[in-house]
Amino acid sequence: MYKCRECKAVFEEPLRINGGMGICPNCKQAMYANAIECSTCGQYIFDDGTSLCEECLHELDLRLYGEFREIFKELSRDELRYGIDSIENALARALDMTMLEKRG
Ligand SMILES: [Zn+2]
Ligand SMILES: [Zn+2]
Repeated sequence: MYKCRECKAVFEEPLRINGGMGICPNCKQAMYANAIECSTCGQYIFDDGTSLCEECLHELDLRLYGEFREIFKELSRDELRYGIDSIENALARALDMTMLEKRG
């Protein structure tokens, strides 16, 4: 799939007039790029390194931040430093678990 950077239209194939350069079927500009589905909500986003759309990333930030903020406030500097590694490890373990589940 492709998505237009100009009008945000999503389309399967660019329009080619007389075999020429591909253009967006909606706004007729050549400002389109590869699009992939957001792995959380399924809407099409530009394929630029992350598989989550901006809305889902924002939502995730709010959830993570919301749940941890109160705990973080009560921690000392040393505890926070330790917490960075600890949370990273916990996230890595959770990721490993989802990989194992997918394998069967
Ligand atoms: Zn367009
Ligand atoms: Zn999304």
